[in-house]
Amino acid sequence: MKAHRSLQRLVRFFLSIFLPERCPLCGEEPPMDDSPDMFCKNCLMSMQFIHGKPCPVCGGDINGIFDTCPDCLAEPARPWKRAYAIFRYKEGAAVAVRKFKYGKEVALARPFGRLLAGTIEHPEQYSEIVPVPLHWIRFIQRGYNQSVLLGEELSRWTGIPLKRRLKRIRNTKHQAFLEKEERKTNIKGAFSVRKPEQIKGKRVLLIDDVMTTGSTLAECAEILTNAGAIVDIAIIARRQTR
Ligand SMILES: [Zn+2]
Ligand SMILES: [Zn+2]
Repeated sequence: MKAHRSLQRLVRFFLSIFLPERCPLCGEEPPMDDSPDMFCKNCLMSMQFIHGKPCPVCGGDINGIFDTCPDCLAEPARPWKRAYAIFRYKEGAAVAVRKFKYGKEVALARPFGRLLAGTIEHPEQYSEIVPVPLHWIRFIQRGYNQSVLLGEELSRWTGIPLKRRLKRIRNTKHQAFLEKEERKTNIKGAFSVRKPEQIKGKRVLLIDDVMTTGSTLAECAEILTNAGAIVDIAIIARRQTR
């Protein structure tokens, strides 16, 4: 894997001499700082970044007069302490996340990882990054786990090690096709913790691509918490209803 990465870097270096970098999303414009880890200006302007002080529960926009956003106020308490997100899940950001998740556009992990790293406060407080796992059947169908790719990039920018701490022990229906209550029962008992003794008393950063109802993240955070860890979450985009 390491040798493969070095080879990739070498190839990219030689290509960059002849071909200027292109935005990994549109493939047309040069990236903002000519780096493969950033989008171009047009793509960035099509994405709605979370601005100001974020909702501590979901990392999204506050959208109101309370400390917590209306979507989170309507939910029961979450099994994590705080959350980080880059975008609202809409417009350009939703297009980019769907391409990353379903369109095999794995190069998008790079700008996502870099932007997400910029939101994390005191990275040194986290002992590890924990990606939400895919069941192996889904992994074979898709060819990659987008949360792991995101985690590798986030790890590269923050220095927090990535650990595949969670294991999917049961395949589940696609959450995207289910209602909120169905999502909770669908995901219940779908994961287990590898070597739980290693995270006892540690603060970990659980990551996924999108948070909609948050039931997958809640199930993962709950079993990590049961193993004695303190959990924060980080996502690329948060889907909010207002
Ligand atoms: Zn672009
Ligand atoms: Zn919220």
